[in-house]
Amino acid sequence: MAGNARFVEMHPSHPHQDPAYLRSLVQRQKPIAAILGCADSRVPAELVFDQGFGDLFVVRVAGNVMDEVVLASLEFAVGSLGVGLIVVLGHSRCGAVGATIKAEALPSHLPELSRRIQPAVDRVRDEPGDLLENAIRMNAKMVAEQLREQSEILREAVEVRALKIVSAYYDLQSGEVKFLDLPADLTSNE
Ligand SMILES: [Zn+2]
Repeated sequence: MAGNARFVEMHPSHPHQDPAYLRSLVQRQKPIAAILGCADSRVPAELVFDQGFGDLFVVRVAGNVMDEVVLASLEFAVGSLGVGLIVVLGHSRCGAVGATIKAEALPSHLPELSRRIQPAVDRVRDEPGDLLENAIRMNAKMVAEQLREQSEILREAVEVRALKIVSAYYDLQSGEVKFLDLPADLTSNE
């Protein structure tokens, strides 16, 4: 969050990008968090959080949805790299969520995405406010919940308090990340 504040204030420090630091990473990595974010070109996790090499374990897929391969990647981050925080990061004007709301017939593999996003759209369809924005937030929350439910490795890490899984929303306009379901013990920036 401190990194995102630097980014929003346009004072990024671009940490961990010098040659000596890169060499220190050759033999090991110890990322501080994993991000499950959207593949959208406007939401690069390292830039949004002002992080460098070795800092974030990033999985990006359109609509920040989850499947077996995504889950395996995050299980590796937690089980093998000891990552203690997973952030499911949705963002404003997400095209994958927008296409799901439009419910047009999509070609080829694209229905795979909307099939996974549809439950979030259904959950908020009758809620007041903007359907797209509500669905984007609900989708990030539901994917975070799916990670807890569908992986034994992640669920056990959460139970022994070695892992937190949270959802967040990135505003393309402001550059700000807001957490959607922040546990009480994560409300400070520490
Ligand atoms: Zn998106």
